[in-house]
Amino acid sequence: MSRNARFRAVVLRASKFGEIHKNVTLFGEGRGLVSAIAHGANSRNGRLRAAVGQFTFGVCSTYTDPVKNVEKITEFEVIDHFSHVRDVLERFWAASLWCEILLKTYAGGETEGIFRSFVDALHEVTSAAPRDVRRITYQFLLRFLEDSGALPDLAGCSSCGCRVRSGDGVVALTDAGEPVCGKCGGASRTIPAGAVAYLSHTRRMVFRDAVRVALDEQAAAGVRSYLFSLLETHVDAPLNTLKLGDGVV
Ligand SMILES: [Zn+2]
Repeated sequence: MSRNARFRAVVLRASKFGEIHKNVTLFGEGRGLVSAIAHGANSRNGRLRAAVGQFTFGVCSTYTDPVKNVEKITEFEVIDHFSHVRDVLERFWAASLWCEILLKTYAGGETEGIFRSFVDALHEVTSAAPRDVRRITYQFLLRFLEDSGALPDLAGCSSCGCRVRSGDGVVALTDAGEPVCGKCGGASRTIPAGAVAYLSHTRRMVFRDAVRVALDEQAAAGVRSYLFSLLETHVDAPLNTLKLGDGVV
């Protein structure tokens, strides 16, 4: 591996390291989670001070010390601070949830698609009205789960492959969240047909268009509980942001 690296990245977490440095966890495009030291970032005159705040997106240059095997940030050219994420409670909690998910899943493995979705989501949320923030979370989760291989195919019965009819406006699901038809059985819960339609329709859309697709209250509740139950199974660790930000996220 080359000692010098340069990649696009978003800062997920930065904590004090020694007196004047910071230990930074980055989501690097094509790299996944990267732990690196930002020298002097915690001192008043540190060159990297402004660059390594949470949610900052930029081009990161690093040098890996081959002896100590420590990666150091040598430069961070900021593309966007996404500083307005902090101005509104709903925005901040949503972005914090995405960060926590990425930290707990090693950024999902298939990082290219997930990196793009994460940056798209930050772009949208930094200027979003509070009532629109949840739809951005739904789109991020939908893409994150799909790119992590954790999103069931919603197009047909998971057992026989037939087109699942939505009798009574609901689709039957197994424990794992896969659709099943009446003949195959094994359903343990249902999801509103409007929620399935929304998920299937928006998953192929460009992010900024997808977050603008309207969703009625019943479908939104279905989308929410469906995505969060898949997320819980996939992450398999308690999400503090969900617990602390209950009702906001
Ligand atoms: Zn079937």
